[in-house]
Amino acid sequence: MTATLIDGKAFAAKVREQVAGHVTRLKEEHGITPGLAVVLVGEDPASQVYVRSKGKQTVESGMNSYEHKMDADTSEADLLAVIDQLNNDPAVHGILVQLPLPGHLNEDLIINSIAPEKDVDGFHISNVGLLGTGQKSMVPCTPLGCLMMLRDYHGSISGMNAVVIGRSNIVGKPMAQLLLNDSATVTIAHSRTKDLPGVVKQADIVVAAVGRPEMVPGDWIKEGATVIDVGINRIERDGKNKLVGDVDFESASKVAGAITPVPGGVGPMTIACLLANTVTACCRANGLAEPEGLTA
Ligand code: NDP
Repeated sequence: MTATLIDGKAFAAKVREQVAGHVTRLKEEHGITPGLAVVLVGEDPASQVYVRSKGKQTVESGMNSYEHKMDADTSEADLLAVIDQLNNDPAVHGILVQLPLPGHLNEDLIINSIAPEKDVDGFHISNVGLLGTGQKSMVPCTPLGCLMMLRDYHGSISGMNAVVIGRSNIVGKPMAQLLLNDSATVTIAHSRTKDLPGVVKQADIVVAAVGRPEMVPGDWIKEGATVIDVGINRIERDGKNKLVGDVDFESASKVAGAITPVPGGVGPMTIACLLANTVTACCRANGLAEPEGLTA
C-alpha cells in the first residue's frame, strides 16, 4: 500500500469530541441541552442496531436522546402525529426518522412533515433546495462526513476534478452538490454512464457510493487521486462474513494518494455528523453562533 489511509474512525472520534465540547458550552453558558429524537417504525434488525448506536453516542456526547419505537403496522396518521409532537417540542432540536420505513408508509410525505430546521438527516425538500442553491441548510450526514474528511486532507478542493459514482438522493446527489459548493469540477456517474473507467480516470477525487462490492479496481484510479469509499457491502469470503466497500481496496491503495478503508472510513463519520447537525440545529434554534468546522 502506498496511499495515505484516511482514518474515519479517528476523525469521527475528533468530531464527537468537538461536539461534546460545544454541548458542555451550551449547558454551562446558556442552560440548554441539545436533544435528538429518533423514530423507529418496525423491527428491521439493521435499523435497530443503527438506532441503538445513535442513541448511545447522543448520550455519550452529553445530549438528550429520545427514542420513539412504533409498531411495524403503525398508520401514517399515527406517525405524523408523533412527528408533529416532536416538531412542537422545544427540548427536541433534531428529529430523525429511521429509513427504510415499512412499505405502507409514504417516505416522502413523512420526511417532509419534519420541521426543516429540525431535519438533522437533511432529507426534507426545503433542505435539498437550500443546499442546491448554496444556502444555509441541514446537510445529509454521510456526504457531510465525506466533505469534512476531504477538507481536512486537502485544505481546499477548489478546482479539483471530482467524480461521484452514484446519484441517490441520500448520498450521490448531495455529495456532488457539496463538492460543487466547494468549487470542485464535478461529474456524477451512474449505471448508464458510458466508459465509467475513463470517467473515473480523470478524477482527482473519487467518491464511490454504489452498493456493489469492490466494483472500482485500482486500474480505474488516476495516480495520486483521493478515494472516498462510501459503500458498505456484506460478502462472504473464505467462509467468513466480511464488510467491503465499493472500491477494491487492495489494488486502489497501490495507486491512490489517499483512501478511506471499509470499515473504519466513511461509516463512523455518519453518526458523528448526525451529532454535529443536532448541535448546529440547537444553536440555530436559539440564535447562537454555529459551531465552527461542523457544518458545510
Ligand atoms: P442507491 O442504491 O440508492 O444508489 C446507488 C447508485 O449507484 C445509483 O445511482 C446507481 O445508478 C448507481 N449504480 C449502480 N450500479 C452501478 C454501476 N454498475 N455503475 C455505476 N453506477 C452504478 O445506494 P445509496 O446511495 O443509498 O448507497 C450507496 C452505498 O453506500 C451502499 O453500499 C450503502 O450501503 C452505502 N451507504 C453507506 C453509508 C455510510 O454511512 N457509510 C450511508 C448510506 C449509504 P442508477 O441511479 O442509474 O440506478
